[in-house]
Amino acid sequence: LFITIEGGEGAGKTTLIKLLEAELQAKGLPVLITREPGGIPIAEKIREVILDRSHTSMDGRTEALLYAAARRQHLVEKVVPALEAGHWVICDRFIDSSLAYQGYARGLGMETVREINRYAIEQWMPDVTLYLDLPPELGLARIAAASQREVNRLDLEAESFHRKVREGYLLLQEQEPKRIVKLDASGTPEDIFKEASRIILSLQAG
Ligand code: C5P
Ligand code: MG
Repeated sequence: LFITIEGGEGAGKTTLIKLLEAELQAKGLPVLITREPGGIPIAEKIREVILDRSHTSMDGRTEALLYAAARRQHLVEKVVPALEAGHWVICDRFIDSSLAYQGYARGLGMETVREINRYAIEQWMPDVTLYLDLPPELGLARIAAASQREVNRLDLEAESFHRKVREGYLLLQEQEPKRIVKLDASGTPEDIFKEASRIILSLQAG
């Protein structure tokens, strides 16, 4: 099963993924946790280029292409082999991040970004995507409070940008309500985890 976790800054993706990993491992299920952009050396290098704070002039299409390139390499090198070996793959961000951030919030257009991503990922879409929904002011406040977290140039974007990211995600969720499940991320990590775990384990049955 291919599961992706999506959401804006400070929504709690990383925390949720750690809890899910522990739960699946406790059940003896083979699980692979990974993240985008990154997850393998080539894609981690691309991540560094994209997130480098000094690259303030990066063109939007360049950025979208770099994300798609990192996504493809990570997919073919790590995700697909794990899926074929029967693992549960949980990936922190995937195509919906590009659609919400580059397609919608940066204004490249969701369809344009979908097209380059179709080229990059071919038929490999997630079985389910958990979207952690949170007002950006709450997410940004969480990040400010937990100052040990890595802060990069994109985190520092205006709150209006993060509001657009959220709008983008909500549109995607309306377009694909079967694949994308919206979770209220304003609760405690434990609340979000319980809900997420229920959804994921129900996939096993079906
Ligand atoms: O997943 P994480 O929060 O670590 O993402 C790193 C940064 O990359 C975030 O600041 C996020 O806003 C940004 N990002 C982006 N476009 C994507 C994926 C991530 O701007 N497609
Ligand atoms: Mg994170």
